[in-house]
Amino acid sequence: MNPFTFEAHIPRVVFGPSTLRRLPEEIERLGAVRALVLSTPEQAALARSVAELLGKRSAGVFARAVMHVPIETAREAREEARRLGADCAVAIGGGSTTGLGKAIALDSGLPIVAIPTTYAGSEMTPIYGLTEGGVKKTGGDPRVLPRTVIYDPELTLTLPVGLSVTSGLNAIAHAAEGLYAHDGNPIVSLMAEEGIRLLARALPALHRTPQHLQARSDALAGAWLCGTVLGHVSMGLHHKLCHTLGGSFDLPHAEVHTVVLPHALAYNAPQAPEALARIARALGTDDAPAALQAFARGLGAPTSLREIGMPEDGLDRAADLAVAAPYPNPRPLDRVALRALLQRAWEGASPVAVSPRGARRHT
Ligand code: NAD
Repeated sequence: MNPFTFEAHIPRVVFGPSTLRRLPEEIERLGAVRALVLSTPEQAALARSVAELLGKRSAGVFARAVMHVPIETAREAREEARRLGADCAVAIGGGSTTGLGKAIALDSGLPIVAIPTTYAGSEMTPIYGLTEGGVKKTGGDPRVLPRTVIYDPELTLTLPVGLSVTSGLNAIAHAAEGLYAHDGNPIVSLMAEEGIRLLARALPALHRTPQHLQARSDALAGAWLCGTVLGHVSMGLHHKLCHTLGGSFDLPHAEVHTVVLPHALAYNAPQAPEALARIARALGTDDAPAALQAFARGLGAPTSLREIGMPEDGLDRAADLAVAAPYPNPRPLDRVALRALLQRAWEGASPVAVSPRGARRHT
């Protein structure tokens, strides 16, 4: 066992079908009386029904959340919260809506109740992102960690199957990198392995039957565990690559994670054999990178950067950005090997651990 330091920062969690109904008592528990409800425009009707459920404890609805929290949207939402005299915010939706809630909390310290409807996991982390002038900056602040999280699997029944699969793989990515994090620990590793196992079982079931409430519950429980991993340990190559690709080339978040994960794991495999073995065990395989790519393909998810809109002539810049600011990763960052990784990810080729000189090594 390696030495470690562990400090838990976990919000109160209310989990189970129909738990949305418990929102009013959870707001009361926080001592709040005027909640501003946040959502994307696509989920505005849901946000309005939440405001109705809150009755006099609702301050209003702000349904303008968009991906990557543009600073202008954050400012508008903060102003709306002030204008309405809100003393808490309820973020109902995926990572984009939770992110908007975090932007409000960062500025005002208002408590956030998050009600996740995807598997992105932002609700379990003190990490925020804000996009200004096309550049997304992330930071960490304990004020942005939601105070309460309500996980109601019934709210995920409407999540389109394609997004359910890619969002689930986004969650698996948090757990996979948590297993080789330089600041990892045994508790986080337990959560990571169980999170992967739950999602690996649930995603094929909900792909077959999107209304399968038990599968939806398992997937959401897996997402909770994976999100908790993300909130407690540092991510490595995979998350940095996805951040670069998503931010600089405007690619869809969950899909980028889905495509890149097998390649990033293959890259790190030679230096992280124990983590790879645990991921493989959770997936019920002996080759985690290949199995993850086959898993995604079998569930109809994208497996190449090309098909999600990445321009091939952007790969050199992506490789430059990937090595520009060093960070801890099991295997040192090597531009030649990362450029080869990106090429394979762009083509949708099978994942291999490319050596610095470009020679391929199967994992
Ligand atoms: P999203 O929140 O952008 O949602 C995608 C779309 O799906 C939206 O239109 C949304 O309204 C819709 N949607 C969500 N749930 C639905 C449901 N149940 N039924 C029908 N439609 C639904 O996507 P996401 O992948 O959840 O979040 C991505 C964003 O979250 C990115 O900006 C990413 O950087 C951020 N994120 C942040 C963290 C963190 O710790 N800070 C962690 C993960 C993701």
